[in-house]
Amino acid sequence: MGKLVVATTNRGKVREITSMLSGTGIQILSLLDFPSLPALVEEGDTFEDNAKSKALQAAGYTGLACIADDSGIEVDFLGGAPGVYSARFSGPDATDASNNAKLIELLHEVPAEKRTARFRAVVALAVPGRIIDVREGVLEGIVLESPRGSGGFGYDPLLYVPAFGKTVAELSLEEKNEISHRAQALRGLLPSIIQLLGARTP
Ligand code: IMP
Repeated sequence: MGKLVVATTNRGKVREITSMLSGTGIQILSLLDFPSLPALVEEGDTFEDNAKSKALQAAGYTGLACIADDSGIEVDFLGGAPGVYSARFSGPDATDASNNAKLIELLHEVPAEKRTARFRAVVALAVPGRIIDVREGVLEGIVLESPRGSGGFGYDPLLYVPAFGKTVAELSLEEKNEISHRAQALRGLLPSIIQLLGARTP
């Protein structure tokens, strides 16, 4: 059965994508399995540019089919920031905790109706030298004043999803994989992945 490399070292993303593709019969690898490869360059101004570029770089390095996700949180009160800069929002040594602390600080005393935000993900599928398909997904929510929940990663403890009455960090992995931005993008990409690798429909 085919191999697919997830072009990330983010364990949270690897966990989610591996779970979503279980049942396809595809062997899922990630850049954690290729520790000697150089870090991927991520210089684009859009999620789509970064996803395509990371997928092509990883496919070139590994010689295998790769998917790359570029994702982040867009906060309306901040004009859509941090967007593509979500991972390093609080500086070059940013952690999930320091990023969340910065977001809480910037939204201090902003009323609930102005705290709307969304997670956005673009996922690209590439083979060496060629992009096969690109898909996007969005998860709408509201940024809380303090974190809640211990699941997921990144900004999950701050994004409250009204339809579930929970933050994303309070959802189970299965619930997050039903509704998340990344899950929607990956579901859109699944027919192309299955066609490329001859996998089973999960
Ligand atoms: P990337 O690795 O450049 O795509 O950075 C994505 C960053 O956006 C992560 O480091 C997180 O801070 C944030 N992010 C992306 N997806 C999620 C998610 O599903 N939950 C919470 N934060 C996310």
